[in-house]
Amino acid sequence: MPARTGAEFLDRLSRTRTHVEIQGETLTGGIPDHPAFKNVVRSYAALFDLQQTGGYRDVLTYQDPVTNSRVATSFLIPRTPEDLAKRGKAFKLTADASFGMLGRTGDYLNSALMALASAHDWFAQTDAAFANNITRYYEKVREEDLLCTHTLIPPQANRAQPGSQQAGGALMARITDTDDNGIVVRGARMLATIGPFADELLVFPSTVLRGTPEDKPYSFAFAIPTDAPGLRFIAREPFDYGRGHFDHPLGSRFDESDAVVVFDDVHVPYERCFTLGDPEICNGFYTKTDAIAHMTHQVVARTTAKTEFILGLVTVLVEAIGIDGFQHVQADLAEIITTLETLRALNRAAEADAKPNDYGVVTPAWPPLNAARNLYPKLYQRFPEILRKLGASGLMATPTEADVNGPAAADIDTYLQAATLSGKDRVRLFRLVWDACASAFAGRQALYEYYFFGDPVRMATAYQASYDKAPYADRVRAFLATGD
Ligand SMILES: Cc1cc2nc3c(=O)[nH]c(=O)nc-3n(C[C@H](O)[C@H](O)[C@H](O)COP(=O)(O)OP(=O)(O)OC[C@H]3O[C@@H](n4cnc5c(N)ncnc54)[C@H](O)[C@@H]3O)c2cc1C
Repeated sequence: MPARTGAEFLDRLSRTRTHVEIQGETLTGGIPDHPAFKNVVRSYAALFDLQQTGGYRDVLTYQDPVTNSRVATSFLIPRTPEDLAKRGKAFKLTADASFGMLGRTGDYLNSALMALASAHDWFAQTDAAFANNITRYYEKVREEDLLCTHTLIPPQANRAQPGSQQAGGALMARITDTDDNGIVVRGARMLATIGPFADELLVFPSTVLRGTPEDKPYSFAFAIPTDAPGLRFIAREPFDYGRGHFDHPLGSRFDESDAVVVFDDVHVPYERCFTLGDPEICNGFYTKTDAIAHMTHQVVARTTAKTEFILGLVTVLVEAIGIDGFQHVQADLAEIITTLETLRALNRAAEADAKPNDYGVVTPAWPPLNAARNLYPKLYQRFPEILRKLGASGLMATPTEADVNGPAAADIDTYLQAATLSGKDRVRLFRLVWDACASAFAGRQALYEYYFFGDPVRMATAYQASYDKAPYADRVRAFLATGD
């Protein structure tokens, strides 16, 4: 089957019976028309349509040599530098459509599946069936163009204890039973973004937390449909309040729901399991397969798109109210430009230094990507801070669309005008700035970027530990040894 259209995505979703708890309501269907999801699912549908659109089609899709169907580029196994460059272009085009605000577009986990399936021999270490399972699953997701999300970490009850010991081990999702056909899973996992409207849930190991032999029952990787019996999503309060694009320009388009995942004796067939009861395999899941490099390749394209948006937004804002001549404002712009150029340079280095891995997959160089994924969680935090500082009281002088078209219209046009904008257009701009830096949607974006790859503190610990610092220390020691 070729890459899906938006209508096909929505049609399948309308037939899906995902169990979602939201604001006291239990849903087992009707997701595409529910107020919490209807706008964001249409933004996702537009991404599926983009794959079919004139100038985009050649970049966003490719002809699979085996099936002959035209499928999404994020499934392309890069065998040449040109393939890798095509993947990078597709990531950027996709991210540009939401200014990088949609963080779980299909290309992210499609990239993981591509790398995992290419490394199928690695999965065969414990059981040849796992190698077959990951390959078949990748092909299924590719051919049906399914939208996947993932859930990786244990509930946040008591971080002084390993997840496997919280409440005597009863909280964290674990295997409680097995039968001839599969495993039974009970417990919970923290957060699956877009869980309520994804097609598939990947229940994978953490990218950061490492398992020990005691974690055996908690060590697995499998995939299930989001409407599997016994699976429940507890969604957070939506930040799309059902208002128009004028009032909530970002929240009304890009509010990706986040949800806690509950497994109530969910049966997972063996053919959907990729590793079972093996902490060592889980610890190497992303690194030994290079899935992490391909996932980060997508993320750097997305964060580049987001940084371009912030740069454009700050530029329009400072011109609008005539603060572009002040030095500290220019320094803020320079800071955003530096972040943008750093991301571009790291991405370019990763593509330029790409090499085939053990499985013949041309893999972007990891050191520049690792630097990018350690930098951005912190650098992004400055963007809402800069927007708040520069927007100042204007961020609260933000009447609604009803006001700019209502009895206050004349006052708004006079007193809310900007140096370069009418009152109405200035309000439109400032509502966008507010939604990027001060609304609930904006707060969630900052949190999301900070924790995107896991806890940045523990990521930094692992990062510096894995980095070969010895040559530099040796040079310093040699210098010290040269004497007085
Ligand atoms: C908006 C959003 C969307 C998300 N979407 C997804 C998703 O789609 N799929 C998914 O799998 N996950 C998702 N996550 C979860 C994300 O992976 C986690 O937030 C991240 O791994 C950090 O874990 P935690 O939130 O449990 O924080 P915790 O581990 O509870 O950390 C809380 C604080 O305690 C500190 N801390 C805790 N333990 C230690 C320690 N041992 N050493 C040092 N400091 C420690 C941390 O530094 C942090 O400051 C999402 C998170 C957010 C915020």
